[in-house]
Amino acid sequence: MPTKGAMVILRSNSELDQWLAAAGGPIHFVPTMGGLHRGHQQLIRAARGAGGRVLVSVFVNPTQFAAGEDFTTYPRHPDRDIQQAADTDAVWFPTVEHIYGDANPDRSHAGSGPPIKPSLIQTLCGPWRPGHFEGVLMVMARLLERVQPALVVMGEKDWQQLTVLRQCLPALCEKRCRLLPVPVVREGDGLPCSSRNSRLSPSQRRQAALLPQALGDAEAAVQAGERRSAVLEQLVRARLDATELRVDYAQLVHPLTLQPCPHLDGVALLGVAVHVGPVRLLDHRFLLSRQPIIAIDGPAGTGKSTVTRLLAARLGLLHLDTGAMYRAVAWLMLENRQPIRSDAALQQLLETMELRLAWGDHGQQVICINGVDVSDAIRLPRVTATVPRVAALPQVRQVLTRQQRAFGQQGGLVSEGRDMGTAVFPNAELKVYLTATAAERARRRAADMTQRGQTPPPLATLEAQIAERDHLDRTRTEAPLRQAEDGVVVATDGITVEQVVDDLEELFHQRVPRGAEPWANTEPVA
Ligand code: AMP
Repeated sequence: MPTKGAMVILRSNSELDQWLAAAGGPIHFVPTMGGLHRGHQQLIRAARGAGGRVLVSVFVNPTQFAAGEDFTTYPRHPDRDIQQAADTDAVWFPTVEHIYGDANPDRSHAGSGPPIKPSLIQTLCGPWRPGHFEGVLMVMARLLERVQPALVVMGEKDWQQLTVLRQCLPALCEKRCRLLPVPVVREGDGLPCSSRNSRLSPSQRRQAALLPQALGDAEAAVQAGERRSAVLEQLVRARLDATELRVDYAQLVHPLTLQPCPHLDGVALLGVAVHVGPVRLLDHRFLLSRQPIIAIDGPAGTGKSTVTRLLAARLGLLHLDTGAMYRAVAWLMLENRQPIRSDAALQQLLETMELRLAWGDHGQQVICINGVDVSDAIRLPRVTATVPRVAALPQVRQVLTRQQRAFGQQGGLVSEGRDMGTAVFPNAELKVYLTATAAERARRRAADMTQRGQTPPPLATLEAQIAERDHLDRTRTEAPLRQAEDGVVVATDGITVEQVVDDLEELFHQRVPRGAEPWANTEPVA
């Protein structure tokens, strides 16, 4: 097998198989069509950073190009690719026959791969490139079958491709395989690095730079208060129509479902495709009408508080502990000897109450009521004992829900507690329903008690108590516990808190990518 420094160059299926057999550990795979540039290099760095052996494939896949598209003129520079792929363990250059067993594969994609959710290809590039994503899946199925990677690294530049692949990945891989997305790498003038950029003349290249500028105009309009998608899309079109760029589409969609958004509410993706001279270029921008919100709900004892605190710290968002707000009201009622019932005196107390939240240096929530910092006092046993009855009072709930929604106007929160995803923040970017079986929660509770030096009751007793509490929570009249329809159920049995936080972080970045938020760390982490 030829080598270039420490890198191995693989030119046949048997060379690949031999290399894979010798590699031993996990394979981190970077599929490309060559014409490697800084964007691809960032993918390779991310793959390297995740440990394991890094394999880059260079293959211009005929089945994803329609007749009349640029399959024959697509940049092919294998020697340069080998130079650019430094820091890779192996580069694999399969031929069309190696992949498809035929030099002229059937481009009709008959029986070729897992079905794509139709809604994912009804917008953006879907209608403009019929059969394209089917062709991408056709090649990915074959590449993944051969390589069996532990990790596939792909660019957010092709957001729709990434989203389609994510949906199909479980069906494409025999073994568990993770997908690591990498933020868009751009040229100095903002144009995304692309193999096709090399085919532009200097004047076309200057024109192409107007693409990110037009998206920047849309972002400025959002900052100035514009929320109508038709206006934002038209703004981009108008700016580009005045140039030599020919616009295929400018479309505002939901980042996960890729469905059109009539107006911007939270986070959405504005995608654009244009033709410049001989090439078609893509770009997108994530537009935010407010900072993102994550809502975490679920039965008691599933670790919501710990998970929320860790997730908020990791993402640089604020932890909105709504349970603390109910505790603060319970504390106030106890201080004022207010009976736990809805009456005029309670109404008076709630109307004059000044509840303030602030966040300390470590993101911890500080809660003040009528000017008194009650962050510690609300954890006293007498408050703990009273709070379930206080939280069941409709008057209290109304006032606190209103306050929580007011915090949500700015966003930037991970909120945890009662009906977060259903009633308080129905437009949250990510809604999570955290669960664990009663048996698992009983085991955790027992371990927790033992750690505190207490003697836990038998597991069966704890389990029965938990099941009883679940039943009460689900059947109470005021805000019964239920899952948001579009919430993601995360079952935590048998997995560590860190793994749960990792999973939630990944779910969040499927909706709000790294780099979309001004506060975000843009380095991908595997
Ligand atoms: P391609 O060779 O264009 O098929 O791209 C191979 C992989 O590199 C895909 O996962 C692309 O999304 C990714 N990629 C291409 N250009 C960039 C870029 N400018 N920034 C980040 N990733 C990119």
